[in-house]
Amino acid sequence: LTTQAKKLTIGLIPADGIGREVIPAAQQVLEALPTELDKPRFNFIHLDAGFEYFQKHGTALPEKTLEILKNECDGALFGAVSSPSHKVAGYSSPIVALRKHLDLYANVRPVKSVISDKDINQKPIDILIIRENTECLATGLKIAWADRKISEYASKRCGKMAFEMALGRNGIRQNIPMNQRIWKSKPKVTIVHKSNVLSITDGLWRESVRSVKENNHKYDEVDMEEQLVDSMPQAFDVVVAPNLYGDIISDGAAALVGSLGVVPSANVGDTFVVGEPVHGSAPDIAGQNKANPIAAIRSAGLLLEHIGYHKQALSIYNAVDNVMREGNVLTPDLGGSSTTQQVTQAILKSL
Ligand code: ATP
Ligand code: MG
Repeated sequence: LTTQAKKLTIGLIPADGIGREVIPAAQQVLEALPTELDKPRFNFIHLDAGFEYFQKHGTALPEKTLEILKNECDGALFGAVSSPSHKVAGYSSPIVALRKHLDLYANVRPVKSVISDKDINQKPIDILIIRENTECLATGLKIAWADRKISEYASKRCGKMAFEMALGRNGIRQNIPMNQRIWKSKPKVTIVHKSNVLSITDGLWRESVRSVKENNHKYDEVDMEEQLVDSMPQAFDVVVAPNLYGDIISDGAAALVGSLGVVPSANVGDTFVVGEPVHGSAPDIAGQNKANPIAAIRSAGLLLEHIGYHKQALSIYNAVDNVMREGNVLTPDLGGSSTTQQVTQAILKSL
């Protein structure tokens, strides 16, 4: 996706719970981008969706939201949606529907630690998880049984996304000389599966992703390895996983970097991208002004990066990293006592 439009129309869908606190924070950061970065002119459109909207209006994703996204927006930011713990008649998740309608087939999740100046003993973590976003488990209504769908088509295009991102991440695509790259070794894609047990579905996943590299010399510069989902080692570059495993390992990886509140994602397709923090609507802390806005702010960065605004994205990442490194203004999930707004203000100042 490389539109370099000067005017960017972004759909904002806060949806439920802390989504309503962190999406406005991300909007503030986008608006505050310095003008010397050729900042695009933003046009924000506020859009409805979510479980609360469903309870009032009987639909979780109004037709109008979808229409505006498709016809007017260059990209969107989604907050979080509450998932009822039991089956609610007529309800289905609006973000799952959005991924389907806009064909956002890969969920790109960078999990990166920022070592605070106060905590020098921590081990740095920098992993990119690519989660297949369109298939995997579908539950039946009346019996305890789940169908699992894995197709060659979906697995291959998600695999391709992983190899492409491995090239981009390491500076190979940009022709950055080896000695100036962040990683001195070859980039690596790790395929996650459990094909020793689920030989048919995970076997197809594994074969399909492998074939992406095996059939394209462009990826000769990327190493490929495999890992069983229940024996994940420590050192990773890019990890590519079927939908459900991708969700579980990224929640686990979030624990390694301090909090779910700092892990962003982008739902990426060939023609559209929706930034979305990995966390949920966090009903336990909603409305208390203590949600960590960093995951949403980094998701706004990812959104810009995938639309083609790399400089702007980088300046957002750096501003967030500065605030985390200094470690003085943090929300409670990271051991601080600052509010959502105070963290946002600190990031704006750094920007
Ligand atoms: P949902 O049904 O929306 O998935 P959940 O209860 O699973 O809700 P999550 O949002 O996934 O909630 O959060 C899991 C835990 O992590 C909660 O205790 C929540 O408070 C915490 N958490 C999640 N996001 C943040 C955030 N941005 N800042 C601070 N804490 C967070
Ligand atoms: Mg959850």
